[in-house]
Amino acid sequence: MPELPEVETARRLIADEALHRRITDVDDSDTFVCRPHSPGELRAALTDRTLTAARRRGKTMWCETSEDGPDLGIHLGMGGRIVVTSGDGRAAEGGGPRRRDAQPHKAEWNRFTLSFADGGNLVLFDKRRLGRVRLNPAIDALGPDAAEVTPAEFRGLITRGSVAVKARLLDQSRIAGVGNLLADEILWQARVHPATRTDTLRPADADRLYRALESALASAIARGGVHTGDVIAARHPGGSCPRCGAEMRHGTVGGRSTWWCSREQAPTTVRYKDLDPERTGCLPARGGGSLPDDEG
Ligand SMILES: [Zn+2]
Repeated sequence: MPELPEVETARRLIADEALHRRITDVDDSDTFVCRPHSPGELRAALTDRTLTAARRRGKTMWCETSEDGPDLGIHLGMGGRIVVTSGDGRAAEGGGPRRRDAQPHKAEWNRFTLSFADGGNLVLFDKRRLGRVRLNPAIDALGPDAAEVTPAEFRGLITRGSVAVKARLLDQSRIAGVGNLLADEILWQARVHPATRTDTLRPADADRLYRALESALASAIARGGVHTGDVIAARHPGGSCPRCGAEMRHGTVGGRSTWWCSREQAPTTVRYKDLDPERTGCLPARGGGSLPDDEG
């Protein structure tokens, strides 16, 4: 699933290639992808305008439009890609990585199209049809963008409450943009067990997680997606840690399939003695990777 780096790749493509080109037609006939809009509604709202800016918060992307027009929200779903074609037919793509075994584009997988006056277009290509296009998408429920959150904000967001730290990283209302693979990469880089309770994280842990977030994001954006992370190839049975060689462990944390290094991300049971049962109202969590889904 596209995480922040993949969506950022798509956003940059639109910012570089699709702005300030007059929209002459809109194919919004896919009523599932364009729900709740009815066919023709997006066309009426966008025709004769231009896209003036491409924005993103977390995995949510939207374009501003000219003359105080509506924002055009485009969500890539599980594997959607943006294809922008120039007036002379040159196509550029952004979004999730193209699979090595990808089949050629089929026209019926173009779920939404803006046609430009110069003869080019912008297409949401989405074989699985899980992407979504809508006007004025809501972003108020999202936390700060993971690429823009400050160290102080991050420390407050990552240590509050008593959920597994991985569940917190995945909670888009706290920090927007981190998905399952990026969360495993960040925790591995910071050498923190994914089931560590947020209220047992020390300031040094929070700072290490912040640095890991920054470096994992920068690397994934530069290399073309979260699948390029250093530990991602080791997330399989029999995999070994690319840093220390120890066996990788697997479990469900925050409701998601999770992998961690058995040696460097050992459960920090020693810290649970610091928990105050009077304050938290619960017994210290067990170590290991099988905390119940506390993501809500
Ligand atoms: Zn290791």
